[in-house]
Amino acid sequence: MVNRNKVIIVTGSSRGIGAATAIEAAKQGYSVCINYINDREKAEQVAEAVSLLGASCLIVKANVIQQEEVARLFEEVEQQLGPITALVNNVGVLHEKMKMVDMPLSRVESVLKTNVLSVFACCQEAIKRMAISSGGNGGCIVNVSSAASRLGSAGEYIDYAASKGAVDTLTIGLSKEVAIENIRVNCVRPGFIHTDIHRDGGEASRVERLASALPLKRGGEPSEVANAILWLLSEESSYVTGSFIDLAGGL
Ligand code: NAP
Repeated sequence: MVNRNKVIIVTGSSRGIGAATAIEAAKQGYSVCINYINDREKAEQVAEAVSLLGASCLIVKANVIQQEEVARLFEEVEQQLGPITALVNNVGVLHEKMKMVDMPLSRVESVLKTNVLSVFACCQEAIKRMAISSGGNGGCIVNVSSAASRLGSAGEYIDYAASKGAVDTLTIGLSKEVAIENIRVNCVRPGFIHTDIHRDGGEASRVERLASALPLKRGGEPSEVANAILWLLSEESSYVTGSFIDLAGGL
């Protein structure tokens, strides 16, 4: 018997790692909120896959760097799916390869806003609802960082790498702050995963180009990251908080 009391929000789940996470969550008995910003059609395709698995599903368009939109997102989910038990902060962007010295600060600001402020905004809203001291039942948060936070992305996207470094640090601090509220906070750090983010970075075949340099000699699949996220959200990881799983083919 599948327990449908688990409710998850996966930010940026119209494609890529977020979509794979939404689908895996549906398989594991969650009611699923699919969030997106532009591509309604893709979000609907993910929703169809989720519904075919028998899961309740809600699509919410919301820009997760806007505090009021984040509040609306959480409110809609709570009204329609029930109290939120899990949050995956998956939204992340990168821009074209460029040396740090040439990066317009407007670009750096935009990357930091999307990749860092969105995590602050969504964590704040989740904690208000999950915390035992506010009448909640606890919950789990998984942040999607990147191997870039360890490697630095020299010559490519130091702005992106630095934003993911901030996500790592936030994960450590927040995990300690909210442990007493029965909320666990963990993080995954993918490496080179086959998704469209590389197209947005100006090189659609980046994973193929770099695969042979990786110890495992291949790029990763979104579902491989999703499996790690779902484990961190599950009871099987009940004593794990403030931890990181690197999914970077050995890099
Ligand atoms: P992706 O394929 O580019 O998908 C990005 C998703 O985020 C889309 O669903 C997009 O919605 C949504 N989105 C973007 N900005 C948003 C905003 N402001 N508000 C709401 N939704 C927004 O990305 P991905 O490759 O799956 O990456 C997912 C996460 O993994 C990111 O944090 C990324 O940094 C991290 N990561 C990826 C890799 C990799 O190799 N792919 C490696 C390391 C880390 P629309 O479809 O509507 O535009």
